[in-house]
Amino acid sequence: MVQHLSGGSFEERMQTLMRLTGKPWFPFNEWIFAGQVYDSEPKAASFTLQQMRRQTRMQPKVEAICTGLLRLRSQAGELVSTMVDQLADFELIGISSTFLQNMPALALARSIKSRWPDKIVMLGGANCDGEMGRALLEQFPFLDYTFTGEMDVAFADFIEHLACNEPVDNMVGVNGRRANGSLFSGPPALPIEVMDELPIPDFDDYVHTWEDTGHSAHHKLVLTMESSRGCWWGQHHHCTFCGLNANGMHHRCKSNDRFISEIEAVVRKYDAKYLYLTDNILPMDFYGEFVDWARASNLELNFFYEIKSNVKRTHVERLASAGINSVQPGIESFSTKILRLMRKGVTGIQNVTFLRLAREHGILASYNILVGFPNEDASEYARLANEIPKLTHLQPPMAMAEIEFHRFSPYHSNPEQFGLRLKPSWHYEHLYPFEKETVARIAYVFEPDGCGSEPRRYLKPLAEQLRRWANSFRLNSCTLTWKRDGQEILVMDTRPGFGPKTYRFQQFAIDLFLFLDEPHSVRSILNFANRTKEAPPATRKLQEKGEVIISFSAWDFLEDHRRFLDALEQVGLVFAERPESSQPTLPIVTDESSTGGGMQYVALPVPSEHRLFEPGWLVV
Ligand code: SF4
Repeated sequence: MVQHLSGGSFEERMQTLMRLTGKPWFPFNEWIFAGQVYDSEPKAASFTLQQMRRQTRMQPKVEAICTGLLRLRSQAGELVSTMVDQLADFELIGISSTFLQNMPALALARSIKSRWPDKIVMLGGANCDGEMGRALLEQFPFLDYTFTGEMDVAFADFIEHLACNEPVDNMVGVNGRRANGSLFSGPPALPIEVMDELPIPDFDDYVHTWEDTGHSAHHKLVLTMESSRGCWWGQHHHCTFCGLNANGMHHRCKSNDRFISEIEAVVRKYDAKYLYLTDNILPMDFYGEFVDWARASNLELNFFYEIKSNVKRTHVERLASAGINSVQPGIESFSTKILRLMRKGVTGIQNVTFLRLAREHGILASYNILVGFPNEDASEYARLANEIPKLTHLQPPMAMAEIEFHRFSPYHSNPEQFGLRLKPSWHYEHLYPFEKETVARIAYVFEPDGCGSEPRRYLKPLAEQLRRWANSFRLNSCTLTWKRDGQEILVMDTRPGFGPKTYRFQQFAIDLFLFLDEPHSVRSILNFANRTKEAPPATRKLQEKGEVIISFSAWDFLEDHRRFLDALEQVGLVFAERPESSQPTLPIVTDESSTGGGMQYVALPVPSEHRLFEPGWLVV
């Protein structure tokens, strides 16, 4: 598709394409193809440049993208037709659709069927889970079959039955049409339990297309792989907004041996160095043997994984040493109170600590700040807006996004529990000209009935601070760093609003700074000061010109700890939070001495000798 976007270099067009495939451009990105799906689609055809501008006011380069979208819509028929040209030799054509892909998938299906009525056209993927698969089949007569559930094994059975002319109308996961036009649906395919039995992926077609379309000249080959399905956190504490894993939340994982041999086979065949893991969450076992293998192998691999953010320094070190240098840590917020609303099982201060450790180890973190949760406390956003300037040396979020209410999430399956009444998102009006009951069976994204489209005013200060953070952040120049100077510690601060300043830590302030590498409660800090107070005081160095001295003994600290901690917090050298969550966190990080009740503190500076980010991920 990038070839069909007009204007700019390949990289610029690629960036536009990446933006277009994202949620902020929904429904326009699907709507491009809607004209190819229906004979007439009154509402969908009504978008104008002005309406697009209004809907996407938060997006950068809105004007150029809107114009590009309108042009793409006028070219959609030709785009689809070019793709259909390549399918003449195939009798069965399967199309996969996930998240924002229904309209292009349906446009392709319709075009195939109208050119070759005898070809069998099938639709699968996450957009067919639950009742969606059957509802799509009912509404779109050019689909012969849709599939519901994990079809890895069941699909092969289905194909064998078709090939032998055997009936398929009781087969698991299959929705289809009988010769007389009536529809049938088998029970959904069950989740795959033995992941090791899945085939090794074949990327031949993908790699050829990647080369033929000119992508290989511009960025690295990234292959998608899978080591597990489901979510070990969600199977016990389903995050309220999470609609992944329709019927397969329980965690299933490939064995280390199998997964390692799969990687070796794939990277040797395609000479790939970047592997994008589709897992919802990195299996905890993989911090052991798998990391040891990746560290020792001479394959020079780089991995992307989604992970849980409340991990300790040792885990982050292991990630980096294994080449897991791009992650989606599911941060979502820096407020424990808001994280608790989403049952995320992590605190705000743990998220801040992760970002600092990720920066130290050169790990790219992709995350969003989610807002608009039912029953959220607006004052938390004002408090967060005040905290953000302290964090601007760390990687900023990609966006601040309104929470969505997804099918299969607790919000959707049990809305009364959250005081919600949901209806399909307004976006679908522009994609499906059907009764609302029908749209509700196809939709994946919902919204509270009666909600307005105006953004909440109380979010404005946070949005502004996040915008400044994104603008001031530099990937390769950290603005709050520390280093040793003999026995003392120097902190260099050039963050907007704080620097430029140099702080020299002396006496117990050094021990305290190092102790706050991970979050600690006041009780834990006082215990530490008590253990340290008998140590002989370190010799003091003379103050250099322009330096701010931070110097106090353990005795001084024990007399008035609040004064010293407040002072460090005020100049943004530590992040402080009062945890309010009684929700369990990951067993690997639960440490009563460090996360007990009361205020908690963690140091913010990053070592000046930190690792740089892996550039191969940055151009993708
Ligand atoms: S949001 Fe992530 S951690 Fe939470 S249930 Fe979903 S996959 Fe699991």
